[in-house]
Amino acid sequence: MPEAPIPPAAEQTFDALVIGAGFAGLYQLHALRDRLGLRVRVLEAADGVGGTWWWNRYPGARCDSESHAYAFYFSDDLLQSWDWSERYPQQPEILRYLNHVADRLDLRRDITFGARVTQAQWDEAAGLWRVVTQDGRRYAAPFLITAVGCLSSTNRPDIPGAADFAGAIHHTGEWPHEGVDFTGKRVGMIGTGSTGIQAAPVIAEAAAQLTVFQRTANYSIPARNRPLDDAFKRWAKENAAEIRAAMHSAPNGHPWPVGSRSALEVSAEEREAAFRAAWEKGGLALRATFRDILTDRAANDTAAEFIRSRIREVVKDPATAAKLAEIDHPFATKRPPIDTGYFETFNRDNVALVDIRADPIERITPTGLRLRSGAEHALDVIVFATGFDAMTGALLRMGIEGRGGLALHDAWAAGPRTQLGLQVPGFPNLFTITGPGSPSVLTNMPVAIEQHVEWIADCIAHLRAKGLATIEASDQAAEDWVAHVNDAANATLMPQAGHSWYLGANVPGKPRVFMPYAGGMARYRAICAEVAAQGYPGFVTAGHAARVTA
Ligand code: NAP
Repeated sequence: MPEAPIPPAAEQTFDALVIGAGFAGLYQLHALRDRLGLRVRVLEAADGVGGTWWWNRYPGARCDSESHAYAFYFSDDLLQSWDWSERYPQQPEILRYLNHVADRLDLRRDITFGARVTQAQWDEAAGLWRVVTQDGRRYAAPFLITAVGCLSSTNRPDIPGAADFAGAIHHTGEWPHEGVDFTGKRVGMIGTGSTGIQAAPVIAEAAAQLTVFQRTANYSIPARNRPLDDAFKRWAKENAAEIRAAMHSAPNGHPWPVGSRSALEVSAEEREAAFRAAWEKGGLALRATFRDILTDRAANDTAAEFIRSRIREVVKDPATAAKLAEIDHPFATKRPPIDTGYFETFNRDNVALVDIRADPIERITPTGLRLRSGAEHALDVIVFATGFDAMTGALLRMGIEGRGGLALHDAWAAGPRTQLGLQVPGFPNLFTITGPGSPSVLTNMPVAIEQHVEWIADCIAHLRAKGLATIEASDQAAEDWVAHVNDAANATLMPQAGHSWYLGANVPGKPRVFMPYAGGMARYRAICAEVAAQGYPGFVTAGHAARVTA
């Protein structure tokens, strides 16, 4: 039943407001409502639950965490009541899973769909966050929790002439729900990140012609996706506790260990055999073959060269193979894609690769794309697989203003400043699930989300138990944490990928700051647990009377 429109003046007050109904928002609602007994309202821009998996319906959309690990582990009932069909879950299956979660936990009744938040202001005198949606609905609550995802604000390249294009332009992150019929079409796809690498083989199957416009060549590992058999499904259910423990103790939240040896301490044959085994097994674990792939350039070079050799082996045309293998950054310093037949796709007669690093796109014309050299590519459909204004984009477009009208936009003008990626100085009672400064995108996301949701719920329970009204990151703590996040990044090779979205470098004008915490999920979990156990050092709390004068 659609909700009746509420007159603009009528504000609804809750104990907590949550923005977003993906993995994070769903669990946060459950944790606050069903464990703490709070009155919670979730505001969701889409017309259904799912978050990332609601919007990203592009061809080939699939998760690159293995399905048995890409699920909620807080509830045995959820674990036992769901079966994944494939090693890597496809977008429609993940969406079905999240709908199953919403139904099983009876979450829908506390979610308002079609509610895009455009303003969220801290009202100091009232001790409330006052939130307004695009259609003028108003809500208030002492606690505001963002569950808006790290990759949800699309990055659309500003290429001149787009408005004149006679065909259709689609961004993968805002894909039409009715799908796109590529039959008989000449398709141009810009972008070779995880998304483009997943989409290309599927588009190539359907289209008359696919031209992939590559600015930066990328590594990719075969996913080796396959249907899951009953024995595996049974094993995953019977061993849920062990899988959970493995994910919680791993640096990346995945249920596989990181190698203990250096890539440089073994013989060339042994190293090759280890990489080969990982390549044949498929998936993200290749980067964990040896302990120093992400920290030692020489070790990384061995993995990078192994993958380049595979590209040259798979792709038959030497010139195309050379362009695909000419990768300018160390392996896994940008999020490493996994694929199903990506490099093989370039052996098809209807697929071409165009190097737009050498010959950049000059403009979109009514009939296609023109490059700087004057070369024209006639197209019927353009696909932007150009990624996201990651980690901060979705937070900055909601009009968030903290104490004294401080806009989050201004507070983060030089890059995001948080304490633990969870709170921002000057923004009392605002919690940012998987916010910048937390491990988030460097991990298996549901693991990072569960840890944040539970920490936030425990924190709010603590405040209520102590009769406290507000909690806010201290300026010094945020200063120290940002420095630590930088140190953690600099201890890895990741900042060497100068154009990665981890650094905000994919969005023109965005501050170049390494945003996720690279110190490891297990270490981060321990830090957060210690902070809570010590009574929240680095955070300033205030009682109800003190709040007004704080
Ligand atoms: P992305 O990794 O940021 O890749 C965007 C691609 O578009 C890059 O090749 C980039 O080139 C290119 N590009 C951007 N702006 C351009 C411009 N103006 N002109 C030409 N090329 C341009 O985005 P994504 O592939 O959507 O992936 C984002 C993240 O989402 C992934 O890293 C991953 O974390 C997540 N994801 C996960 C899955 C999964 O679970 N399987 C699937 C898809 C996405 P440059 O490299 O030169 O900037």
